[in-house]
Amino acid sequence: MKSLFIFLALLMVSVSLSAQSEITIRYIGNMGVLISDANNSVLIEGLHDEYRAESYTFPSDEVVQTLITKDGSEFPPITAVMATHFHQDHFDEALINRFLDANEYSVFIGSEQAVSEIDAGKDQLIPISTATYQKQSVNLNGVKITSFYLNHVNPGRFDSIQNVGFLVEINGFKILHIGDTNWFEEAFTAAELTALELDLAIMPFWMLMREESKANFSKCISADKIIATHLFYKDFEAYEKDILTFFPDATLFTQPNESITLKK
Ligand SMILES: [Zn+2]
Repeated sequence: MKSLFIFLALLMVSVSLSAQSEITIRYIGNMGVLISDANNSVLIEGLHDEYRAESYTFPSDEVVQTLITKDGSEFPPITAVMATHFHQDHFDEALINRFLDANEYSVFIGSEQAVSEIDAGKDQLIPISTATYQKQSVNLNGVKITSFYLNHVNPGRFDSIQNVGFLVEINGFKILHIGDTNWFEEAFTAAELTALELDLAIMPFWMLMREESKANFSKCISADKIIATHLFYKDFEAYEKDILTFFPDATLFTQPNESITLKK
């Protein structure tokens, strides 16, 4: 009899261990992704328009319409829209205004500089201060989003640009999106990301192409999985070769509508 109880106990443990959770990450364009579990979606940089169209992808009118209205879509409602900074290959104020008008229960999260471009008077705006590297968190419908300053790449030219990183905690997964940054040691030290055991880091390709990228990644981020973005949608093979040399398990997003599903 005792062995039967032990058997049943072991069976229950194995059943609970095999109950999987999953998330899907769909590519929208440039650094834009739609992250979904069964109940919520968050859209990071999915609302931007044509900018250097010969190089960078952007969502078609049809995709924008689907993101705004959800008509004909399969993804759960978008709880939050975010943008790391207000450069036009990441952000379009008119599209974000349209989205917020059509989705009164959704919010926009961005730097104070990005939020200042959106219609004042909306109560759906969550501005992120970049005065310090301090983390700023909100809980939205069971999704925790933590935002923090991460300097823009090429500070000599872009020092005035307020770039922010986002940590999204959804359905047991921890996902990092860092926008147009680089290996700024002070910013990553303040963010303390390696202690978080991240599941996924969504990164610009230029941070992944050198021998020292591996050491920087281990020291500053250390996620289980990498998605490389901001790649050109054609003639990206040389970059792909370098990235896969140093990060053989990385996924490159180059063509809109690609997606990956993570399970655990
Ligand atoms: Zn930029």
